Amino acid sequence: MLALSRRAASLGTENAFVVLAEVNALLRAGRDIVSFCIGQPDFPTPTLIQDAAVAAVRGGKHGYTPSAGIDELRAAAAASMSRLRGIPIGPDEVVVGAGAKPFIAYAIASVTDHGAGDEVIFPVPGFPIYESQCMALGAVPVGLPLRESRRFAFDPDELAARISPKTRLLILNTPHNPTGGLLTRADLEAIAQVLRRHPQVWVYADEIYSRLVYDGQFTSIAALPDMQERTIIADGVSKTYAMTGWRIGFAANRTLAPVFTRWITNTESCAAQVSQWAAVQALDGPQDEAEAMRARFAARRDLIARLLNQVPGFSCASPGGAFYAWPNVTEACALIGAADSEELRRRLLHEAGVAVLADIHFGPRVAGDGQHIRFSYATDEGSIEQGVARIAEFMRNNTRPPRQ
Ligand code: PMP
Repeated sequence: MLALSRRAASLGTENAFVVLAEVNALLRAGRDIVSFCIGQPDFPTPTLIQDAAVAAVRGGKHGYTPSAGIDELRAAAAASMSRLRGIPIGPDEVVVGAGAKPFIAYAIASVTDHGAGDEVIFPVPGFPIYESQCMALGAVPVGLPLRESRRFAFDPDELAARISPKTRLLILNTPHNPTGGLLTRADLEAIAQVLRRHPQVWVYADEIYSRLVYDGQFTSIAALPDMQERTIIADGVSKTYAMTGWRIGFAANRTLAPVFTRWITNTESCAAQVSQWAAVQALDGPQDEAEAMRARFAARRDLIARLLNQVPGFSCASPGGAFYAWPNVTEACALIGAADSEELRRRLLHEAGVAVLADIHFGPRVAGDGQHIRFSYATDEGSIEQGVARIAEFMRNNTRPPRQ
């Protein structure tokens, strides 16, 4: 009999794509849906970047490149990452990939051995690919709860309690998907202090939203004393320059750069050359359009947080970065008699025509932290107003009278 491997069976998915298929089916059936599901900018890629890609195609720059990427992009990415974090990063420490996402798997595969009991600690809620890749690559996933009371950071003591001699990798994500939370310099200093006691632990700093910060300043753990050597910085152009489909990301670590390069030779060979030239233009060219997009996201953040806080049963902390809002809907569930956030999500989709994701799409719920749903506000202001108005009306129409 033809069989699938246990590895294939254990591979998880990103539920955003599953919900998206559900939404698309409803749209095809003629339903009117306001969607807050997908985490990508709704802006077109800036024209100068598009032009650089066209010039690359016309100029015959469309063959394979070295697996680590073209020198121009490695240099541009190194300079850009270095500037934002205030640390020296050389082009030879940087590897270009088809998005930032592949480096999650490359990092886990490079520092854990399959079936050896090697542990990877990652945030919960969190980007679902962290756990999914741990499972597929035979590492032991160890969730670290983020707490609303800490503005969706985690308690360094809880981190310390989870580190064992088997811990190989700690995944950090700031600004954070799905909560929009930021790790402050003080948070990162506390984390670094714990890590200094455990020299065997690598850090994967998923900083894909590093340029979408609205409150205070972005800080990377790599910028703290003793941390750069063990930190893999992952960043890219997807979110900052509205380039999700171009598939360009990069990772920086002196020791692992040649290892990541070998993984790429073994998988996609190289990132698309045309997209690499577009990314050079994005990083080296004028930054005004990226800044304008960031300013629009900041205004939308204020809009959606204000509107969500007016919905009965919703309470939304102001997210400091990325483009996600993560309201607490524990009371909303109680008001309409929904068992949990997933039932609320389904009812919002089918009865109110609003698509969101539920907390369970990002890992198990954190005990004591209640129910949450995720909104991506990378959508226009009119849709934000209309979508939240629909939810408010749904809540008003479905709130049950209090029990006598
Ligand atoms: N990390 C996180 C936390 C993300 O949210 C995403 C995109 N949703 C990625 C990585 C992947 O980014 P890219 O499109 O560059 O592969």
